[in-house]
Amino acid sequence: MTRIASHRGGTLEFGDSTPTGFRATARMPLDEVEFDLHPTRDGAIMVHHDATLDRTTDTAGAIAELSEADVRRAVINYSAGEHPLSLTELCAIYAPSSVEFRCEIKPGSNGRAYRDFVPGVIATLEREGMLARTTFSSFLLETLEELGAASTRPRLWLVSPPVLRQLGLTAVAELLSARGIDEIGINIDDADAELMAAFSAAGIQFGCWAAHTTPQIEKALAMGVKVFTTDRPTLAIAIRNRITEERPV
Ligand code: MG
Repeated sequence: MTRIASHRGGTLEFGDSTPTGFRATARMPLDEVEFDLHPTRDGAIMVHHDATLDRTTDTAGAIAELSEADVRRAVINYSAGEHPLSLTELCAIYAPSSVEFRCEIKPGSNGRAYRDFVPGVIATLEREGMLARTTFSSFLLETLEELGAASTRPRLWLVSPPVLRQLGLTAVAELLSARGIDEIGINIDDADAELMAAFSAAGIQFGCWAAHTTPQIEKALAMGVKVFTTDRPTLAIAIRNRITEERPV
């Protein structure tokens, strides 16, 4: 069965990376929760999508240049006055849940990988008992290499539409196999059965991201992709249930 990953805790249902969204997703009958991590100036690891607080909160500034206390004071837009969580707090929410982690390591606001960030993430996940339930993702091959050197957990490469178009399937498959990565995530609008079959033939598991509308979710389920991320987890669960019920036994 195709796996559903609640993207940033279900942004279109609960706001972007909100505590309410993450708590709700932990209680849902789905498979994974997707989230993004950034370091603060004083070494905390915070759960937030953007590298800055500008777009999604009432506060401005790059997370990596702010203190943990500064980030915790920021109020997330379209939340009920909530503040960003730390990775430790996120682990506490999911430890009693059966939902697994799909952990994206983001670059900084300059687009480059944070220095010496990955070891702290892995150590925190291990300490909080969530490392064995984590799949890592990144758009940066450099970050995936760092993760591969520090952990045996599964990794997947998020490939943006322009990168996929410019490199093409063969080059993407070669880049993955050279790094021992066996999964790819591409935009649902770029996905089709032919592309999935070609990656599958190359031994690469095929997943999608940004399936937020009913047609996008239905497409991912009809294709039978391994997993897709969605900002609308409640909708995705309802559609998956409907399709499962309709399927002949
Ligand atoms: Mg992400």
